[in-house]
Amino acid sequence: MPPFFTASCRPILVRFYDACMTEASDWRLRGQEKYLAGVTLVHRAYRRYTANRDWDHDHCAFCWAKFMVEDRPDVLHEGYATTDDYHWICEPCFRDFQEQFRWTVVDDAIPQT
Ligand SMILES: [Zn+2]
Repeated sequence: MPPFFTASCRPILVRFYDACMTEASDWRLRGQEKYLAGVTLVHRAYRRYTANRDWDHDHCAFCWAKFMVEDRPDVLHEGYATTDDYHWICEPCFRDFQEQFRWTVVDDAIPQT
């Protein structure tokens, strides 16, 4: 609770502030819960999206950190992917949002059907 709110503040205002400062305030959140809440993720080395070979990189679904196979400055080579490799999430964002999004993490060694 910030110092400018005291016990005499209107409760509705305080609740509004709390709601804004917890989930909704993170700049990385833009409605990803529609397609990433509760999904299964695999921790793996980055690889190109097999359904579209023209894409040579991806971005973290939250902070836009760049994933690439090639060795370039400021790119990531591994992270958490949806099982179809379509969405990628970097490790800091995974840690920050795993409770909120309730992801299941599976081992990359499990064969995909
Ligand atoms: Zn990220």
